[in-house]
Amino acid sequence: MAKIGPFFYINNKLIYNACDLDEGREQAGKLDNSYSHEMLYDDNFSSGDYIDYPRGRVIWDKEKSRMIIYIDPCIDKKNVLDEIAQAFEIGEYVTASDFHYHCKNCSDALFDDMDW
Ligand SMILES: [Zn+2]
Repeated sequence: MAKIGPFFYINNKLIYNACDLDEGREQAGKLDNSYSHEMLYDDNFSSGDYIDYPRGRVIWDKEKSRMIIYIDPCIDKKNVLDEIAQAFEIGEYVTASDFHYHCKNCSDALFDDMDW
């Protein structure tokens, strides 16, 4: 059964927390796993800050009946998406980008593009 939740992709390794759709929290027509990136990071690492690392989140869009994988631009690659789809047991999905899911490098690149 398809699952939802946050993930990181660090050192070529997928780290994630997946829950069933019926355990999800609904917000604005979307179902999300309430587990945070901060919790997931702290479960796996004893130092550092989660905001520096490539990450994303799998969400169920109730209105459009589809999975959305929010993913950091630097890990938006087929092999990573395949691994995510397998871990979360999802078939069809769309990908999306959101500034919440930008690692340090991607955030820096974003600000460089903005011509301060
Ligand atoms: Zn990135």
